[in-house]
Amino acid sequence: MDITEATRRALIERVAGSVILHADELTSLDQAIGDGDHGINMKRGFEAVLTDLDRLAAMPLPEALQAVGMTLVMKIGGASGPLYGTLFMELGKSLPDVPGFADVTIAFEAAIAAVKRRGKSDAGCKTMLDVLIPVLETLKSGQPGSAGRLPAVAAAAAEATRPMKAVRGRASFLGDRSIGHVDPGARSSALMISAICKTLEAAA
Ligand code: ADP
Ligand code: MG
Repeated sequence: MDITEATRRALIERVAGSVILHADELTSLDQAIGDGDHGINMKRGFEAVLTDLDRLAAMPLPEALQAVGMTLVMKIGGASGPLYGTLFMELGKSLPDVPGFADVTIAFEAAIAAVKRRGKSDAGCKTMLDVLIPVLETLKSGQPGSAGRLPAVAAAAAEATRPMKAVRGRASFLGDRSIGHVDPGARSSALMISAICKTLEAAA
């Protein structure tokens, strides 16, 4: 998969654009089970990424992903900044310049493992990992059309955090009262997965 400069630009614009467009929704999800800053944090991070769009799009994919990760760590803050920063930086470290389907799966698995280590978290804790892990599993299934199903898998996985009880992050302070709300980080992960898949599909 040759990801051209135009595609790298479109990827950054679409991912950032989707997060920024949904900032109020992410904030209201975080108002229910956190401190109400997830949308604000994510918007600040991705606005900073967009200010550097020309330079980022001109970089080879691995370097661009690492640079995006660094900006997210510095600008998002909270719990999600270091975690999303780790995800993007690790993807950048693991992906070759011209990745194939298998490279994407391997890099995504390595990036998720890094997020798990950093957050001392795993599937079922009601976090972003509850979207990222099902997406990885769908990629690994290698079934025909699995890439095209990822936005729907991610959206369903975000919704599936609603009945979960949070055991990591700020929402865990609420105990049983975290049940009944979609996790904000799960929703932001689903938005990003969907934007990436739709951009790559359009570029293919
Ligand atoms: P904060 O909780 O510091 O206010 P944000 O509101 O920006 O940070 O992000 C909250 C999101 O971060 C949660 O919805 C959850 O998805 C994710 N998160 C929090 N802690 C962890 C963790 N230990 N592992 C994975 N994801 C986490
Ligand atoms: Mg918060």
